[in-house]
Amino acid sequence: MAKSIDEIRDRALREIESASDEETIHALSVKYLGRKGQVTLFLRTLAELPAEERPAAGKAANQAKHLIREALDRAAERIAASREKDDAIDVSLPGRPVRRGTLHPVTRITGIICEIFGRMGFEVVEGPEIETDYYNFEALNIPREHPARDMQDTFYISDNVVLRTHTSPTQPRVMEQRTPPLRIIAPGKVYRCDSDVTHTPMFHQVEGLMVDRKVSFGDLKGVLTAFVHRMFDDQTSLRFRPSYFPFTEPSAEVDIRCVACRGRGCRICSNTGWLEILGAGMVHPAVFEKVGYDTAKYTGFAFGMGVERIAMLKYNIDDTRKFFENDIRFLGQF
Ligand SMILES: [Zn+2]
Repeated sequence: MAKSIDEIRDRALREIESASDEETIHALSVKYLGRKGQVTLFLRTLAELPAEERPAAGKAANQAKHLIREALDRAAERIAASREKDDAIDVSLPGRPVRRGTLHPVTRITGIICEIFGRMGFEVVEGPEIETDYYNFEALNIPREHPARDMQDTFYISDNVVLRTHTSPTQPRVMEQRTPPLRIIAPGKVYRCDSDVTHTPMFHQVEGLMVDRKVSFGDLKGVLTAFVHRMFDDQTSLRFRPSYFPFTEPSAEVDIRCVACRGRGCRICSNTGWLEILGAGMVHPAVFEKVGYDTAKYTGFAFGMGVERIAMLKYNIDDTRKFFENDIRFLGQF
């Protein structure tokens, strides 16, 4: 028996010595010192020994138990120390490069637009994206039966509340609270039930409005020409085509000479040599009347442009959905 406890002890010490993780240490502790462990079981057999052998065998067993417990403690310390060393920071390793962020092209272009108009004295204002029917349509002279109010085009939240379909509601909102002269520019998100290569359900617009005594269509042309020359280059010519918007009269759609082919005709401009970039016009008297402006005293112009549209032309991007796919390889180019 005494020889057997020596064997148990020696095997235990060897196994503990080669253990390399905490799970093994725990398993060995159970295997030798647990309730059904080998040392424990050995101690229980002592009672069966002849009386004269018991003291020596008991002493040997208790010594073995003590040695095994000490070995387990040492091994646990050794393993903890080596793990700490693994976790320590190796200051000799090269650092992980931090990817440099860039502004989203829509944010960039919005910033450039606001800066250009800012230099011409326009103040940046913002309006709510969840808008009432009144400001989105009625205050802008868009009658009940107008197709823009169709459920197909407009996201209705309730009968009288919509996701704004354009940034134009900022016009009556600002005019209600101020008296002319005023020059504002209103960037922001707008929403329409539309989705294909050239349309996304959410996109960005910038609205512009100038009201004062004697503001003319000539002022509108001058301001927009200055804008286009700053945004693209001063060789870029513009043309104004007659158009219709309920809240401006007269109204125009503004085209620029194709930035890709300089007017010779290409795929981007569908061989017309021109690219449409915005809608504009003189503020309709009905809009002024709604906000209480004296139409005999004041005139004004307004314009609205799509930010993605400008960004696509400026950066030669062919699919508007790319702006919203969050592909870093695309976004990182700007
Ligand atoms: Zn072209």
